[in-house]
Amino acid sequence: IWLFYSLSYSFYNIAANLAGIRTGIDSAVQKRPQTVPTVQPILVAVSKTKPLSLIKQAYDAGQRHFGENYLKELVVKSNSPDMAELCPDIKWHYIGTFQKKMASVLMRVSNLHMLETLNGAKEADAVNSRWKSTEPLQVLVQVNTSGEESKSGVTASECTELAGHIHRNCSNLKLAGLMTIGSFGYDCTQGPNPDFTKLAECRKTVCKELGIPEKDLQLSMGMSHDYTHAIEMGSTMVRVGTAIFGARDYNKTEEQ
Ligand SMILES: *Cc1c(COP(=O)(O)O)cnc(C)c1O
Repeated sequence: IWLFYSLSYSFYNIAANLAGIRTGIDSAVQKRPQTVPTVQPILVAVSKTKPLSLIKQAYDAGQRHFGENYLKELVVKSNSPDMAELCPDIKWHYIGTFQKKMASVLMRVSNLHMLETLNGAKEADAVNSRWKSTEPLQVLVQVNTSGEESKSGVTASECTELAGHIHRNCSNLKLAGLMTIGSFGYDCTQGPNPDFTKLAECRKTVCKELGIPEKDLQLSMGMSHDYTHAIEMGSTMVRVGTAIFGARDYNKTEEQ
């Protein structure tokens, strides 16, 4: 009986959390200035360290896009037999640090929808030469907008070159947009987050250079504490973990 109550309690929480976030997304879209392209944001539920049972609860509440940032964990979760049966339309995003040597492991992810963290031409080539699906793999260029050494990603000035390389030379990849993590703990009451401003500027430059309409390139920016702020600034993809699944216990997973 105790187990039943704890399961139904967390089910209620996840469905309710998702509903609250969807409402927050919709009201943030209404607050966007007219200069921001009218693209409905995609909510990526970041399920790192969280068990399949909670992923399933979110899936049953209508959630389809999920993100993981430990590649081994993503390979295991996406290939679990329960997953194909219980969450057949799941769309996985890899959002962790990406290195060239990880390209072959990435190919072992089932239902991989998007690589959000491409950070170099060699990395792009490594994925491009291995991706064998009929549909190109959607990729985002990760931009290190805050310039912190601990963060992966290209500089704003390298971004256009890498985007161009993917667009012109990687026929198995589709340039789907740009992504940033941004500096930790920015207080949005101080005004527009400079990381988000910078990523939006990068998209302008890339689109001009490659002749792509701005609405065709995603901006993946915003997490649990600032997703509404990010959407008001034009984010089209928010990566939300804690606000859906609760705080993470890192002792339960193997760090990469
Ligand atoms: C963990 C993680 C998130 C989600 O962070 P929350 O604060 O839990 O919403 C988003 N993006 C990346 C790249 C992450 O690693």
